[in-house]
Amino acid sequence: MKKIVIAIDGFSSNGKSTMAKSLAKHIGYIYIDSGAMYRAVTLYCIQNSFFDGEELDEKRLQDNIKNIKIDFRLNDKTSLPETFLNGQNVEQQIRTMEVSAKVSRVSAVPFVRHAMVALQQEMGKAKGIVMDGRDIGTVVFPDAEMKIFVTADPQIRAQRRFDELRAKGDTKTTFEEVFENIKSRDYMDQNREESPLKQADDAILLDNSHMTIDEQMQWLVNKFKQITTSNE
Ligand code: C5P
Repeated sequence: MKKIVIAIDGFSSNGKSTMAKSLAKHIGYIYIDSGAMYRAVTLYCIQNSFFDGEELDEKRLQDNIKNIKIDFRLNDKTSLPETFLNGQNVEQQIRTMEVSAKVSRVSAVPFVRHAMVALQQEMGKAKGIVMDGRDIGTVVFPDAEMKIFVTADPQIRAQRRFDELRAKGDTKTTFEEVFENIKSRDYMDQNREESPLKQADDAILLDNSHMTIDEQMQWLVNKFKQITTSNE
């Protein structure tokens, strides 16, 4: 069967990554988490003190953007891809609240987006990928054969993210902090000048506020089957 590109875009913490990962595994495709790439750049900025409070020194970031090398490597045990920044496994470090609080600032910088989009397009050249993010169906792969735009109620998203942080042992972050972070990222992602978050005209809307993971998976696999059989 001919391989296609699957673009999954949408708001923060709506389960995009979980669904993209499971779908990729189910259909034997490669999963690429584009948000992890923006998170890795953000971590680099934090590690190299490009932030002074909320202020980002874009000039220093620009001078160093060529020194930021991001790749994904498969974890033998979990068979899931993990994010590497300049040869170091940063999969855990990029998921902290500190990175979440700063990533929308970094991802709004045009030269950062250009560099990441070029890398994402290179990774998807051979097709057979599921990539999730904010601009995959609009900018990175405007010709993707299957485009999904995921949305869910912000309260429900915050609760899911909060539960995830608790499960990972974070006992400090409060629900309010998570909720505020989600609302502010939604706002920044939708209102930035460079490729803001928006539903592509040809994307299918999926509101998963009241769907179980299994129902969602069934929905996705059905769409995949419909699209791949009608494309044959
Ligand atoms: O998907 P995730 O929440 O990990 O993404 C982190 C952040 O990276 C988002 O809030 C957004 O600012 C940025 N992002 C982006 N474009 C993408 C993926 C993520 O701007 N394609």
